Amino acid sequence: MFENLSSKLEQAFKTLKGQGRITDINVAQTVKEIRKALIDADVNYKVAKTVTDSILKEAIGREVLIAVKPGELLTKIVYDHLTSLMGGEKTDISLKGDPAVVLIAGLQGSGKTTFSGKLASHIKKQNKNVLLVACDIYRPAAIDQLKVLGEQVGVEVYSEPENKDAVTIAKNAIAYAKANNKKVVIVDTAGRLAVDEQMMKEIAAVKQAIQPSETLFVVDSMTGQDAVNTAKTFNERLDFDGVVLTKLDGDTRGGAALSIKSEVNKPIKFVGNGEKMDALDAFYPDRMAQRILG
Ligand code: GDP
Repeated sequence: MFENLSSKLEQAFKTLKGQGRITDINVAQTVKEIRKALIDADVNYKVAKTVTDSILKEAIGREVLIAVKPGELLTKIVYDHLTSLMGGEKTDISLKGDPAVVLIAGLQGSGKTTFSGKLASHIKKQNKNVLLVACDIYRPAAIDQLKVLGEQVGVEVYSEPENKDAVTIAKNAIAYAKANNKKVVIVDTAGRLAVDEQMMKEIAAVKQAIQPSETLFVVDSMTGQDAVNTAKTFNERLDFDGVVLTKLDGDTRGGAALSIKSEVNKPIKFVGNGEKMDALDAFYPDRMAQRILG
């Protein structure tokens, strides 16, 4: 994950660490290289510029030039800025209500169904009775996929294969959950390959009808700037609560992880690290910054 970005940052710091006597030109050069590394990692130009301008300002203000270990001080400044760029603190999901309802949205292929299974397993481990709901009325295979995952993690899956109305299915599922002592309902919705008006209308209607305490937007981290743009579009229509960044185990550059919070103003709450049901982690901005800086 983020190998390219990490090695470019390491390279940027090397120039500074190798100097006998540091000059302000060295610092400015290092910060410029950091900016370039961020842009290469698919961080939006404006975001990369803002963050590196503020890194440079702080480096000058904190007198990196006369520090005992200037390279280390600058690394610490960059670490702090990357952490706050990604949201600062870890943010938990909200499970309020009886049952608590979690709505999962995102494009087809983003990893929604896989994540729904992972989240169900994660919540089940907290000894809560979970119900998964298959709300994809277009692809029967999606219902089967969720059933397979539900079986794997030992969570019941609610579906109505003959029903073509997502809102009714979601409402019925919640009634079923109430009647069967389920404490958390996770609703997996239909995605399309690209943003599409009908999909947006449908998922907004589902949200309106079931009033989830948490709406999560799932996005494939491999899609870089597109991930950020898709997140913006979904957020305008859904006003979601958090982002799930999937496929971080792949050859992803890092742009989405670094810029979603500042561009969409919604925190990343989970990351997917693989196809297996236990490949799910809570998102800690500070730990992520640490990993990026190596
Ligand atoms: P959906 O269409 O949004 O429901 O997407 P799926 O859950 O079907 O996932 C699409 C593909 O991505 C599947 O082959 C999943 O196994 C895979 N996938 C999902 N999450 C991850 C992840 O975190 N890492 C990897 N490597 N693959 C994932």
